[in-house]
Amino acid sequence: MKYETVIGLEIHCELKTKTKIFCGCETGFGAEHNTHVCPVCLGLPGVLPTVNKRVVEFAIKAGLATNCEINQYCKFDRKNYYYPDLPKNWQTSQYDLPIAEHGWVDIDVEGEKKRIRLTRIHMEEDAGKLVHSGTNIKDSASSNVDYNRTGVPLLEIVSEPDMSSALEARTYMEKIKAIMEYIDVSNCRMEEGNLRADVNVSLRPAGSTELGTRTEMKNINSFKSLEDAINYEIERQTEVLEDGGEIIQETRTWDPERGITLSMRSKENAHDYRYMPEPDLPPIVTSPETIEKFRSELPELPDARRARLEKDFGLSDYDAGIITSSRAMAEYYDAVVATGADAKLAANWMMGDLLKNLNAEAIDISKSPVEAERLGEMIRLIEKGTISSKIGKKVFAEMWTCPDAPAKIVEDKGLVQITDTGAIEAIVDQVIADNPKPVEQYKAGKKKAIGALVGQVMKQSKGKANPQMVNELLAKKLDS
Ligand code: ADP
Ligand code: ZN
Ligand code: MG
Repeated sequence: MKYETVIGLEIHCELKTKTKIFCGCETGFGAEHNTHVCPVCLGLPGVLPTVNKRVVEFAIKAGLATNCEINQYCKFDRKNYYYPDLPKNWQTSQYDLPIAEHGWVDIDVEGEKKRIRLTRIHMEEDAGKLVHSGTNIKDSASSNVDYNRTGVPLLEIVSEPDMSSALEARTYMEKIKAIMEYIDVSNCRMEEGNLRADVNVSLRPAGSTELGTRTEMKNINSFKSLEDAINYEIERQTEVLEDGGEIIQETRTWDPERGITLSMRSKENAHDYRYMPEPDLPPIVTSPETIEKFRSELPELPDARRARLEKDFGLSDYDAGIITSSRAMAEYYDAVVATGADAKLAANWMMGDLLKNLNAEAIDISKSPVEAERLGEMIRLIEKGTISSKIGKKVFAEMWTCPDAPAKIVEDKGLVQITDTGAIEAIVDQVIADNPKPVEQYKAGKKKAIGALVGQVMKQSKGKANPQMVNELLAKKLDS
């Protein structure tokens, strides 16, 4: 039987507020253990939480940016469970009245647009972190608890089961990351756990509309793990089904080292958590005016920016899509254009040499050895005719390892374009004398033969001759 894959994601996104969601403790990452704590986030008796207004603002902005309806009335609920990283024995979250619902984002996968619906976005607090004496909980004699992360604000962004491949799931998560970065509510540093996903995967007979039994993989925190875990799970479930077995609804972990998923526990249901309204926090009521104010503060979002780059600068849909796919990339592009460099050339150089080099060395664009300003200056040297675009590639390669200004590199390496007619003419004459065959062909009417001669002149000039002048001079001499 042929199966199709069904995927839904629950993305946890840590908000970049200065303080925690229900107390005044700092949120910063990497502080000494248990230094960002107080009676409220430690869950000591006799204390009361207060909601950080910024968290509500960020949640509403995230909802608006993903086309959700904002609930003017929402409330917090307690999700009860026991684990050492949860000092209150409940997580304050939102259950039946989340802050935002019924949204969507569009993704592009292999040239096709697809709409992924969001079920809801809710606010909740993060738990603490267990620090094991060994490498994992199983081989540790003891574990300590760090409560610095307890009470750090999170958004949980829940999708409908609308994705049907690992690539779609990745593209969706990239889109959510981009939107959260654009609206500046999260650092989205996946390596620091700012953005992580619980991934639900099931199979069903192709064409069926009923959902199959799913497994859930928790806390996936890189795009590679996301794709690998999904692909592994598709294979594993296919095998089980083809052998006539049944999928067990369970929580599994992804082991990136071994490249497999492992069963953790059978899946809990909502009723297991004994959800109850949070009695210590009043409901959150937001006026339509406040919602509209937040809407008016939203920056240009990825889709709009993409459309603008296409319209204003004539970029292709593909190029504009890549350039706006992350905030860092879009800002880099803007900075290149701000130097006065041609917008189309800027896109070409980013899509070409820059991304090729960044990808090859797995460097993030925010840490690019060739900064936007220098790339812009280099492009302007090409536009001014100081260097050809071919030499530009050499200069770019040099800039990758050398922090000098492009003009200085061009100067030091003697790469300035030869635009002196006399100098070019001398090479042209020599090349005509040395290459009788293409000369003959050209004169016999095979105009294309000029290409070989142009190539020779460029080679002799080490790429420095102005190509347009070479063409003109050659044609003039051959036609005379
Ligand atoms: P929970 O995992 O907390 O029990 P839900 O039942 O609401 O919560 O589902 C969470 C996620 O799982 C959602 O993103 C949803 O789209 C996805 N999901 C639900 N059923 C399936 C399924 N059969 N296959 C794949 N994903 C599913
Ligand atoms: Zn605190
Ligand atoms: Mg879940």
